[in-house]
Amino acid sequence: ENDISHIVDADKAHIWHHLIQHKQFETNDPRIILEGKGMRVWDQNGKEYLDAVSGGVWTVNVGYGRESIAKAVYDQLMKLCYFAQTAGSIPGSLYAEKLISKMPGLSRVYYTNSGSEANEKAFKMVRQIAHRRFGGKKHKILYRDRDYHGGTLATMSAGGQDERVMQYGPLAPGFIRVPHCMEYRNHEQGLDHLSSEEYGIASANLIEEVILREGADTVGALCLEPVTAGGGVITPPPGYWDRVQEICKKYDILLHIDEVVCGVGRTGTWFGYQQYGIKPDIVTMAKGVASGYAAIALCVTTEAVFDMFKDDPSDPLSYFRDISTFGGCTAGPAAALENMRIIEDEDLLGNCNAMGDRMMGNLQALKEKHRIIGDVRGKGLFLGLELVTDRNTKDPVTEAQIAQVTGDCGAQGVIIGASNRSIPGKNNVLCFSPALIATADDIDQITDSVDKALTKVFG
Ligand code: PMP
Repeated sequence: ENDISHIVDADKAHIWHHLIQHKQFETNDPRIILEGKGMRVWDQNGKEYLDAVSGGVWTVNVGYGRESIAKAVYDQLMKLCYFAQTAGSIPGSLYAEKLISKMPGLSRVYYTNSGSEANEKAFKMVRQIAHRRFGGKKHKILYRDRDYHGGTLATMSAGGQDERVMQYGPLAPGFIRVPHCMEYRNHEQGLDHLSSEEYGIASANLIEEVILREGADTVGALCLEPVTAGGGVITPPPGYWDRVQEICKKYDILLHIDEVVCGVGRTGTWFGYQQYGIKPDIVTMAKGVASGYAAIALCVTTEAVFDMFKDDPSDPLSYFRDISTFGGCTAGPAAALENMRIIEDEDLLGNCNAMGDRMMGNLQALKEKHRIIGDVRGKGLFLGLELVTDRNTKDPVTEAQIAQVTGDCGAQGVIIGASNRSIPGKNNVLCFSPALIATADDIDQITDSVDKALTKVFG
């Protein structure tokens, strides 16, 4: 048996933790998660937590301890652990077929192993299309303020959260930022006199302004999250997506939807884009695809995008000259297939909608009680609470105050999340993404803990 103090010491000596490094320097008191079952995890002190963020970063959508996924992975590994995607595999074919049956209009699946990498593949497809079809000109990729697409240098170059991007320059050229569509903060854009419907159109038109400024013949793709996740759970205003799609059509711009967070059930439909009638050309996904039971991500395209690489077989540069080694791990699609079966068999989309409604109601009630809550947003089991010191000026609470709230919930045995945004130190959104198996009691426990934490921190 591994002695826990040994595990903790090895962590202290050798682990470079993600995102929480200052805490590591200050206290060097790591939390080691030993076990998970359903909605709950246990740490090295035996403390139980209700996980309201599905593994910290909206990933374990079907919950912990799923024997049937472990078994599907085991059986597949014993049969064939790996072969490069230059060839095919049984789970690779079966999962692609099942996935595509949920995504009318799309048809090609490119396997990778992280969300960042899936987005990189998409960006490279766009660049190559620009070279082959438009003499290299239509190469720019638009991304949105507050959106996030990954931690590699190119995805950071398409990163709308400055605090995560600022210190890694020089960034890759050809990535152009468009304004956010966040109605709650439309005063920052001088658009707070508009109705919701008017703002939906106006915020989409801000994208068109950027296209015209850059020159439409230089813009190849627009990459957006359907609902912005880490940037603060930003749901689009009404009419936004219709207008965005009109603009893409008008200027012959590919629409790349980043479903890394929304994908595979999180918002209550299979994909977030399906909430808004979006017809994407490229969709990327990761986290919830196999709920963390295996590392798997995908870049999915229409047949039209795939066909753009058909060209001249005698030209050695005519095809997408790219491989992802671990895109050939069969554990990924084997786990993903079982993950999808579970969501169907247990009607987890239905549960997501029902529990999402309950949670939204609970959070709205908290807003009645706590002046510090400025806005409640979300879709399905993907929700956020924006905290402001003043509901008129909408000044954000400090990041330290947010950390007090998340810390207090943690002390109560509930793990919740927080946002990132473009102004360092100004992250002020609490984020919730419990697994799709959440019960009414789980939801109430989460919102009760937030209620208590808000009272404690803000009175
Ligand atoms: N896109 C979005 C919307 C994300 O939230 C993330 C991860 N937080 C990524 C892409 C990157 O995924 P990964 O960490 O698997 O590279």
